[in-house]
Amino acid sequence: MEYISTRGKVEPLGFIDAILMGLANDGGLLVPKTIPQLSADTLQKWQKLSYPELALEIFTLFIENEIPRAELKQLVDDSYATFRDEAVTPVKRLNDGTYVLELFHGPTFAFKDIALQFLGNLYAYVSRKTNSIIHILGATSGDTGASAIEGVRGKEGIRICILHPHQKVSRVQELQMTTVDSENVLNLSVDGTFDDCQRIIKELFADVEFKHRYHLRAINSINIARILAQTVYYFYAYFQITANDPGAKINFSVPTGNFGDIFAGYLAQKMGLPIHKLILATNENNILERFVKEGVYQPGAFRGTYSPSMDIQVASNFERYLFYLYGEDAEAVTALMAQFKAEGRIVIPADKLQAVQADFAAYGVQNEECLDTISSYYKEYGYLLDPHTACGVAAADRIAADGEVTVALSTAHPAKFDESIRLRGIEQTYPQQIQALFDKPQFQTVVGGSNDEIKDQLVKFF
Ligand SMILES: *Cc1c(COP(=O)(O)O)cnc(C)c1O
Repeated sequence: MEYISTRGKVEPLGFIDAILMGLANDGGLLVPKTIPQLSADTLQKWQKLSYPELALEIFTLFIENEIPRAELKQLVDDSYATFRDEAVTPVKRLNDGTYVLELFHGPTFAFKDIALQFLGNLYAYVSRKTNSIIHILGATSGDTGASAIEGVRGKEGIRICILHPHQKVSRVQELQMTTVDSENVLNLSVDGTFDDCQRIIKELFADVEFKHRYHLRAINSINIARILAQTVYYFYAYFQITANDPGAKINFSVPTGNFGDIFAGYLAQKMGLPIHKLILATNENNILERFVKEGVYQPGAFRGTYSPSMDIQVASNFERYLFYLYGEDAEAVTALMAQFKAEGRIVIPADKLQAVQADFAAYGVQNEECLDTISSYYKEYGYLLDPHTACGVAAADRIAADGEVTVALSTAHPAKFDESIRLRGIEQTYPQQIQALFDKPQFQTVVGGSNDEIKDQLVKFF
């Protein structure tokens, strides 16, 4: 399988080179050159596979023989053996029409583990095979950092440095990152905001000499391996539900920030999984809701919400969707992105908007409505939703029609966002793994926000 850029100016690459490139060199995003098409027969055959077996089949379609099957199987098995639930991503029924797909049983209790456990093992594999050094540099507003660190801690050939805004991530998120005692992990706690951290990273990656000299690699959600890993649970959940209810019309409701998770669902659908509707749930940062409803993609004012991992104005994976919306026309995408840069917005014509609305339904959840959803599901079903999951469930309640089944993706364990849940007087007991973090020593270096100071730290560490 070859990978190409949404802007069309990169020679087709193999899977491993695509992973290592991260952002495409022409500024676009990498996508598979062709999307594998699954027959009804294949879907039937996959119906009873375990999660790792299914992951192996799906990765094989996108990697082909670039990684020998036995080695790929080992990577997949190692990646999902760290999950606490035997099903990896179990599906829980709340009522006839609503299911929750629990994606938070990995090491850091957030769905990002599903992709980053695999990417961590993949990077270690590439380092071993090609005898190369991999230095990961990333910024986080909370979940990605913890998950990326867990993905590579203690792995040979890899070092990881994560920047987070000093005292601006949740307590549990901070502890998850900084209690890791491993010589290949460096936590820099930056005196500034998440945007400052992201700007620093962007500028360091733009310094090509520095980037090459120190073998810098990215782990952010534009990495195509992350998307591919996330397609698996759409298939898995679909099979779980249709096993009992073969004719079900199945929707997925996805709490969205960078458009990564929902793009994975879109890809699964394009591969042939008969998803009925993809419901795009946002919080008050609703650029994507407005795009689906009005055909205008334009950032609004930043709003702080109870679901901070979705507090995003510019969705970094959105360009991948534009590529398919415009019939895989890289020139059209290049023009749209140039328009976005120049005018700060993209406006699509009526026929394209119709196509968007055939692909997605959207709903933006207000802050109070998010908390109301947590309260009402707790009261009615005894099920505690985290605030991100609550956005997906609230959107499902608004959009799904009678007789349809909606699977709401649960992207984090509620313990990670206890600060918000307490506002409704709900007390939860932390899982023992999270409780244990409070007694561990922390390892982090507090730094100012200048690029030079960060560079000094990196040079010492690498
Ligand atoms: C990252 C994240 C999201 C958003 O996922 P995207 O792929 O950026 O759309 C939603 N919920 C949680 C808990 C997250 O960590």
